[in-house]
Amino acid sequence: MSATKDDIIVLPNDHLRQKSKRVAVISDEIHQVIKDMVDATIDWEATREHEVGVALAAVQIDKLYKIVIIREDFDNKKNQHFKVFINPQITKLEGELKQDYEGCLSVTDIYGKVARYDKVRVRALDETGRVVRVKAEGFLARVFQHELDHINGKVFVDHLKGNEDAFYKLTDEGKLEPLPYEQVQTLGVFR
Ligand SMILES: [Zn+2]
Repeated sequence: MSATKDDIIVLPNDHLRQKSKRVAVISDEIHQVIKDMVDATIDWEATREHEVGVALAAVQIDKLYKIVIIREDFDNKKNQHFKVFINPQITKLEGELKQDYEGCLSVTDIYGKVARYDKVRVRALDETGRVVRVKAEGFLARVFQHELDHINGKVFVDHLKGNEDAFYKLTDEGKLEPLPYEQVQTLGVFR
C-alpha cells in the first residue's frame, strides 16, 4: 500500500522536534521510506489547490532518518520527480540573510516570513550512495535550510516565536493574509 497525505505528521505532534539519525546503509527499507515520502507529498498536493509539495524530510512521515526529497521543478506541478538527499549537510552558508514566505506540509495553512541565507553549499548522498555536492541560491537555498532544520528537529515556526508580524494564513482563494500572533499562539505550534 502506498503512503498518503495522512502519513504526514503535523504540529503540534512533537515527533517533529526529534533529531533524525544518519543513514548507515541504503537498504530496501530506506528505498521504501523514500518512495513513501514521494507518494505522501504527491497525495498531499493533490488536495491542495493553491500549493505545491516542494520538499519533505523523512521525520515528516515519522521516520527518523536523515533523508530529504526536493522537487526537480518547483514551477511545474505536473513534474512529480524529486531529487533525493541522504545524510545532507550544509557545508557553507553564504550571501545575505533574506526574509521570505515559508510554509510546511507539517504546519497546516500557516505561512511565515523567515530569514534565510541566500546561498548554501550542501553535501549529501544520492539514493545510489554517490556523493553529491550542490551550490544553491535563492529559493532552493531556502528549501535546503528549511529541510536541514527538520533533520535537526526544528520547524520554521521556531524561528518566529515572539515575532508578532511574521505569520500569514492561506485563504480559500489561495492568498496570504496576516495572521494575528494571538491566533497563532492558540494553535499549539510552539514548543
Ligand atoms: Zn517543512
